[in-house]
Amino acid sequence: MDIEQAPNFRPVTEDFRWEAVAHQPYKQDGSAPFKDISRQVLFHEDALGCELRYFEMDANGYSTLERHEHAHAVMILRGRGDCMVGEEVRAVKQFDLVSIPAWKWHQFRATQNEPLGFLCMVNIQRDRPQLPSVDELAAMKQVPAVRRFLDGA
Ligand code: MN
Repeated sequence: MDIEQAPNFRPVTEDFRWEAVAHQPYKQDGSAPFKDISRQVLFHEDALGCELRYFEMDANGYSTLERHEHAHAVMILRGRGDCMVGEEVRAVKQFDLVSIPAWKWHQFRATQNEPLGFLCMVNIQRDRPQLPSVDELAAMKQVPAVRRFLDGA
């Protein structure tokens, strides 16, 4: 992807929006594996080989349940919610840090009737996420905390 060099200074314009940063609501239909989430690419730095994105879910929204070879480094920037990494499910809040290692299933959910936003650092060169098969989903749900998280209970 060819992205023009961003200006050196891009002030914040309103809460969790920045000058010269496109706000990209994810397309969704009934079968989409995510809900009410938007993406903003804050940095696409070829010199560093990484991107820093800001994702935000509306209340009760969630990110895609996925896994992949590339890792994520995450800081919660807004609100509270729940996060699953592998078999671990934790409540998360503003400024908490979350590491998502290679091949761990992961998902964020805005469970507290408020938006949940997080910064996510990622390699520019990265593999495509995988979605769970029916069997993989059933296997994940063998862990009670994971089942409660995925079922939104
Ligand atoms: Mn991911």
